[in-house]
Amino acid sequence: MRIVVLAGGIGGARFLRGLKQAAPDAEITVVGNTGDDIHLFGLKVCPDLDTVMYTLGGGIDEEKGWGRTGETWSVKEELAAYGVGPDWFGLGDRDFATHIVRTQMLAAGYPLSAVTEALCARWRPGVRLIPMSDDRVETHVLIDSPDGSGRKAVHFQEYWVRHRASMPAHAVLPVGADRAAPAPGVLEAIGAADVVLFPPSNPVVSIGTILAVPGIREAIADAAVPVVGLSPVVGGAPVRGMADKVLAAVGVESTAAAVARHYGSGLLDGWLVDTADAASAAEVEEAGIRCRAVPLMMTDTDATARMAQEALDLAEEVRA
Ligand code: GDP
Ligand code: CA
Repeated sequence: MRIVVLAGGIGGARFLRGLKQAAPDAEITVVGNTGDDIHLFGLKVCPDLDTVMYTLGGGIDEEKGWGRTGETWSVKEELAAYGVGPDWFGLGDRDFATHIVRTQMLAAGYPLSAVTEALCARWRPGVRLIPMSDDRVETHVLIDSPDGSGRKAVHFQEYWVRHRASMPAHAVLPVGADRAAPAPGVLEAIGAADVVLFPPSNPVVSIGTILAVPGIREAIADAAVPVVGLSPVVGGAPVRGMADKVLAAVGVESTAAAVARHYGSGLLDGWLVDTADAASAAEVEEAGIRCRAVPLMMTDTDATARMAQEALDLAEEVRA
């Protein structure tokens, strides 16, 4: 079985760990979000690709859900001693090495997809991890200027990590997406897939950004295979993080059913909501999307593997 998964960071990575357990013989291709990428201290940082790579490769800090296990912070402290920031983005010493290797390879002329493959040769994530695009795409968020002079766009990481999404987002802009091309292998993987899965990743700034790369949404919609998603929203709120803020920016309510309708029946064939949202299944089905209510909390790998199995079962149901 060939499975394609569109993934952001934590939600995507944890789901993938369960999927690998549920379908050990499947050939899994992960199309990773790069809209969160940021240049810091002259280095190219790809937070979502690294979260997937570290999580599946056994190098993730489990507690935080991002960054390296056994991390130390000497470089960050030394930079701070020079007064060099930003200080709000956590880059540990071990993590720095990844960004140095990536930046060095990019400077040598390798595309990001080749660099990612090289980094994965060390981590052996057990999936094929491809960035959505080799072209630069940077998600910006439109907020009110602090000085009241109007609105300004800030980098997604500044909004999310520095400001903890504490102010309203008026718009989410995947800058550069309109001119970006899918990375080599992305459209081929979708074309050859038996099933496409949307893990419980952020529908706007993770999966939405991947779908904004011209060709990817169309390829998924046109693929004659089941497309099944899992809701990141449970009981009217994101399970983790501030996805409600960016959903509001695109005019979508923070409910499991509203997220399904946002993707739409043109894209989604099946949708899993948590048992807490069982009452909303009818609304999803009315929108032309087959829906099941099952436990959707990724408390451990076994629970996550059961979620992945439910998604594969729903895909089989759709296919039949
Ligand atoms: P990020 O890039 O690190 O923000 O990660 P993703 O975009 O891949 O995933 C973030 C989303 O995962 C958030 O909107 C959460 O609501 C969702 N999420 C995290 N843990 C769980 C869980 O256990 N169950 C479900 N259903 N969603 C989760
Ligand atoms: Ca992310």
